[in-house]
Amino acid sequence: MTDGCGRTIRYLRLSVTDLCNYRCRYCMPETGVEKRTHRDILSAEECVEIGRAAVNCGVKKIRLTGGEPLVRRGILEICGGLSAIGGLEELCMTTNGSLLPDLAAPLKEAGVSRLNVSVDTLCPERFSHITRRGRLVDVLAGLEAAERAGFTNLKCNVVLIGGFNDSEIRDFVALTEHRPWEIRFIELMPMGQCVGWERSCFLPAEEVLRQVPALRPCEPSGTAARYRVPGWAGTVGLIEPLSHRFCNRCDRIRVTADGKLKPCLHSEAELSLRGLHGAELEAAIRRGIAQKPEQHHLSDGGSDTPRNMNEIGG
Ligand code: SF4
Ligand code: SF4
Repeated sequence: MTDGCGRTIRYLRLSVTDLCNYRCRYCMPETGVEKRTHRDILSAEECVEIGRAAVNCGVKKIRLTGGEPLVRRGILEICGGLSAIGGLEELCMTTNGSLLPDLAAPLKEAGVSRLNVSVDTLCPERFSHITRRGRLVDVLAGLEAAERAGFTNLKCNVVLIGGFNDSEIRDFVALTEHRPWEIRFIELMPMGQCVGWERSCFLPAEEVLRQVPALRPCEPSGTAARYRVPGWAGTVGLIEPLSHRFCNRCDRIRVTADGKLKPCLHSEAELSLRGLHGAELEAAIRRGIAQKPEQHHLSDGGSDTPRNMNEIGG
C-alpha cells in the first residue's frame, strides 16, 4: 500500500529482541538493557501473525533485526513461520555474526534468503573495544559459515566512526576484489548512546569516495547508493542518513520487539499491535503506514525517538 506521501511501503523491519551478546558503544550501555519478561516481548506466533498481516498490506520483504536476532529463543521457528507466508519475496536478517558458525545452515534451511553481518573493524583489538565483549575471530568464522551454507550474497555493515575505523576504509573495500559481497558504510547517527560524541566521529559517507577514487557508481539498492571498482567481484554501498536524505524513497516500516509499529525510525510516533488479530491487526498496520511522516530532521538536531537503536533494530 502507499503512504500519505505516495511512497509504496513494501519492507518491514521486525525486531525480535532488544537483547544482544555485544555492547557496542554507539548502541548500548555497558550494563546492557534490562531483561524484559516473555510477556513483554512478541511471541514467535505474534511475530509470524504480524508478518502475515504486513504481507496482506503489501509488504514483500521482511528483515529480522534486534538487538541481536540470533540470541532470541525460537528464532528458527520465527524464520520458518515467516518464510512460509505466501507473497513474501525475501526474508532477511541483520546479525552481528557471532552465532553464525552454529546457526548459518539452520537459518538457510528455515528459509532466510539473505544476511547482513555487522562488522565495524577488521582489527581484533578495535573490535573488542567497540563491542566491549566481542571477538573478531567469531564473526569471521560466522561469515565463512554463512558462505558455506549458501549465503553467497552477503552484505557487511560498517558503521563509519571518525577516528576509529576511517583508516580501514581501503581494507574494507579491498574485500570486494574477489568476494561478491556488498560492503555497506553507514553514517553514524546522533541518537541513543552517541548523542554527545564529538562532531569528528560523525563522518559523511563520501569519505569513502574520497579515499577510494577508483569507485564508480552502479545501480542503487534501497537506501544505499552503490559503487564498484571496475572489474571487482563485489560492491560498496553508502548509507547516508545524515548527509543525503533518502526519505523521499523510503519504503519501510518497523515493528519493535514489544510490538509497537514505528512508521519512521526517527519519529516518536508508535502504534501498539499487541492483542490485535486478523482484520484489526491489518487495519492498525494500514493506519501506521498512512501516518508515516514525510521525512526526518536528523541533521537539524537529532532523532525524536526516545528509543535506543537496540530497541528499534537500526
Ligand atoms: S550494534 Fe548490534 S551488535 Fe552492537 S550492541 Fe547493538 S545490537 Fe548488538
Ligand atoms: S527517517 Fe523515517 S522516513 Fe526517512 S528514511 Fe528513515 S524511516 Fe524512512
